[in-house]
Amino acid sequence: MKEMSPLEELRHSCSHVLATAILRLYPETQLDIGPPTDNGFYYDIDLDKKLDADDLEAIEAEMKKVIKENQRFTRIECSRAEAIEKIHASGQTTYKLGRLDDVPNSEQVSFYQNGEFIDLCAGPHVGYTKKIKAFKLLSIAGAYHRGDENNKQLQRVYGTAFPSKDELNEYMTRLEEARARDHRKLGKDLKLFHIDEAVGAGLTLWTPNGAVIRQELQNFISEELRMADYDQVFTPHIGKLGLYRTSGHFPYYKESQFPPIVEPGTVERLAQEGCSCGDLSNQLDSGEIDGYLLKPMNCPMHIKVFDSQPHSYRDLPVRLAEFGTVYRWEQSGELNGMTRVRGFTQDDAHLFCTEDQIGQEIKGCLDLVKLVFTTLGMSEYRVRIGLRDPDSTKYVGDAAMWDKAEDALREAAQTLGVDYIEEPGEAAFYGPKIDFVVKDVIGREWQLGTVQVDYNLPERFDLNYIGADNEKHRPVMIHRAPFGSMERFCGVLIEHFAGSFPTWLAPEQVRILPMNDDLVPQAREIEKLLKTAKIRVTVDAIADKLGAKIRKCHIDKVPHFLVLGRKEAEDGLVKVNSRANKALEGLKTPAEFMGELLQNIADKTLPDPKEETPTA
Ligand SMILES: [Zn+2]
Ligand SMILES: [Zn+2]
Repeated sequence: MKEMSPLEELRHSCSHVLATAILRLYPETQLDIGPPTDNGFYYDIDLDKKLDADDLEAIEAEMKKVIKENQRFTRIECSRAEAIEKIHASGQTTYKLGRLDDVPNSEQVSFYQNGEFIDLCAGPHVGYTKKIKAFKLLSIAGAYHRGDENNKQLQRVYGTAFPSKDELNEYMTRLEEARARDHRKLGKDLKLFHIDEAVGAGLTLWTPNGAVIRQELQNFISEELRMADYDQVFTPHIGKLGLYRTSGHFPYYKESQFPPIVEPGTVERLAQEGCSCGDLSNQLDSGEIDGYLLKPMNCPMHIKVFDSQPHSYRDLPVRLAEFGTVYRWEQSGELNGMTRVRGFTQDDAHLFCTEDQIGQEIKGCLDLVKLVFTTLGMSEYRVRIGLRDPDSTKYVGDAAMWDKAEDALREAAQTLGVDYIEEPGEAAFYGPKIDFVVKDVIGREWQLGTVQVDYNLPERFDLNYIGADNEKHRPVMIHRAPFGSMERFCGVLIEHFAGSFPTWLAPEQVRILPMNDDLVPQAREIEKLLKTAKIRVTVDAIADKLGAKIRKCHIDKVPHFLVLGRKEAEDGLVKVNSRANKALEGLKTPAEFMGELLQNIADKTLPDPKEETPTA
């Protein structure tokens, strides 16, 4: 028997109820497997009819009957020969015979029967179907048998179950909220980004609204980096293959890279020589032909920047930062909005320091991360420290060096005052690391970026600095991209704020709503004034009812809007409405409002805790 928590046991039992109902409605179905998942369960089924939402409802109704019948789950143990007989008797031979082969010889073969349904299963199960107090079928997706694209695609029916109706309702509410916050949906509604098949899957187009958010974030991070004595650099999007051979990124990781680019004429020349594509690939791998690689990593370029000058110990640490765009070949099935893409811009930096400086530098990285998270209202986050596996010998560098670096990471995490866990065996072969998992407003966790110590690349590139002893020494490198990439980070922020960004990030900060056509010129005057202070402001000059204009502000999630009626215009005032910060509301002069808003922007004030639910 496998270990299952009581909740998993309940959910897995519900998957048997699902299969029971499906076979009653569609007896021709061939079943594959139905395990519990983190949030529920599924069953993979082979059925020619494509199930839709109406079918799910009918299946749910049948499941309720099965539960009401209060069928008992009975465990039946048998020999392999008997099991084969049972599978044949049930008519479920397409997948279940293969699944029987998966059961290790050391394990007892068992079936579970409830009512008329019998399924090959290790268990465990709840006693009776009535134990399932609350369940819901959620969705249908395609899933290849055994996850292999060469196998038949089955239908995966997802559902969830809970010990009580209240818990199910709470889960469904959370799910709905998550759906309303989905960055792919909001990204479209709010015109933040666009992914166009003609450009390429996984390649993000930042449309003007999204570009504002990214630029503001980059400005904020850059400023903090400048204050922390980082130097900004720019490097090209492609580099020679040789560079990535030295770093080890090519050809070892070529499965996750776009294929190399060769110099003009190379392909024609090789074709004339009678070479095949396979030859070309081999010659690129071996280095007989040099070519270029779309940059999969910024590090080798930053190393070359560092190495473009001799360094003394007095120069260290050298901190080179770049919003560096890299390209990786992700499988198309893995792509997801902005959070899994093929081209992305890392908030990257590489620190070159002495061994003694590692602790201080890591601490500096963590302080910056803390500041950015706090500013964005993500005060709940945790840190994972990836340490070496003490039993393995795959690591470069000596044990004393590792001990020191691991201690430095631990110490830095402690001074941060947040939760951290240590994960032995999670370090890269070239050094220990720290990564960040942040909690958003509705409690979901997102893994962002890392801070990684590296003893390997300085070795591979033969980097050195002159020490106080006038001898050459090897620097240590720290890679850090704490927010991962601008794409992923913005995707997470869209969901975190449900599209209602704080004023400093909002693409449109203020909208002016003149109540009559003849008030438009005065609205334009106010617009001009606010623009002189670099406030992102527009006028809704369309002849429409005020109610409609206000609704549009809510749909577009504009944080502040100014209503300009005849009375206000005569008094030289505007009526400030604020979705983001109620404290700014009231009747005031445009100049007064401007002063308050500039303060709000400078302070990066977070939106008031929300009252409205994000349903738009
Ligand atoms: Zn089972
Ligand atoms: Zn790096």
